[in-house]
Amino acid sequence: MSMLKDFFIGLSQNQLLNSTAKKYGLKMGAQSVVAGTNIEEAIKSIRELNNHGISCTVDNLGEFVYKKEEAADAKEKILNVIEAIHKNNVDAHISLKPTQLGLDIDYDFCLSNLREIVDKANRYDMFVNIDMEDFTHLEPTFQILDVLSMEYDNVGTVIQAYFHHALEDLKKYENFRIRIVKGAYKESPEIAYQDKSEIDKNFINLTEWHLLNGKFTSIATHDHRIINHIKEFVKKNNIPNDKFEFQMLYGFRKELQLKLASEGYNFCTYVPFGDDWYGYFMRRLAERPQNVNLVAKQVFNK
Ligand code: FAD
Repeated sequence: MSMLKDFFIGLSQNQLLNSTAKKYGLKMGAQSVVAGTNIEEAIKSIRELNNHGISCTVDNLGEFVYKKEEAADAKEKILNVIEAIHKNNVDAHISLKPTQLGLDIDYDFCLSNLREIVDKANRYDMFVNIDMEDFTHLEPTFQILDVLSMEYDNVGTVIQAYFHHALEDLKKYENFRIRIVKGAYKESPEIAYQDKSEIDKNFINLTEWHLLNGKFTSIATHDHRIINHIKEFVKKNNIPNDKFEFQMLYGFRKELQLKLASEGYNFCTYVPFGDDWYGYFMRRLAERPQNVNLVAKQVFNK
């Protein structure tokens, strides 16, 4: 299992395959978990989800950005997404990755790109979530959040439960809207739990802590056992529904997404779109080898 995971994580980081995939549109089953290659397609998907009482966080996919022009282009695209969300009056906000906006090129350049985005979103009263990438980007991402949160209140980030120090980080961001996830990258045993049961346990600890002490918690998992546990926890502790939401990725566990929304829980679907789908898709295959079925179905349905 772990070899398969490493294999797909390795593929997700292959820049040649990544740039080749961009040229060919959504392939290999990616179309069932990526909401199109352009904003019009994404808005259509968002509207459908909104019609079921589900809000969305929108990711204009992009990674492996090492040139300033590409990062500037990514920024323009995200500004356009904000405009499109506003104009179409859909219930959605933004998720983005700092490396897409130049974190690997220059910290100040990335910060200024992000500031422009958060500023524009702020004018439309729209939240911006800074997704968390691998460990090498963790500290600079927190630094960006620290700076921007002194200027704006519509920004938050993600805490990854596989890190040993996740609770300390979470405590620092008590007054933030925080998404809690298990963690999608390969990290070393010195800094991160490797065992699934330990990660799950930490995920629950973090979520319970933030539900009791934090501002707003986005519980991002497809794991029905954890979701059921949290449902019991909020009931027992009288935590009102407006203090948290469940989040899942577009295309995964659709019935469960609809069920949670119909039960009256706030639900938010993470909607990725764009032609830079390859790395995102490979990480989904790494997380859950059963997702390889998506690829197999596509190949054999041709
Ligand atoms: P897993 O641990 O993969 O699965 C647990 C159990 O849930 C499985 O055994 C199975 O019983 C059930 N299950 C899971 N998936 C399915 C399915 N498709 N169908 C049926 N049963 C299923 N990671 C980051 O590192 N940074 C981020 O910024 C980030 N943002 C995210 C945002 C959202 C909205 C979500 C949902 C995830 C995000 N992730 C992010 C990914 C996250 O870290 C995990 O890698 C990913 O969610 C897989 O863990 P899981 O808890 O969903 O379920």
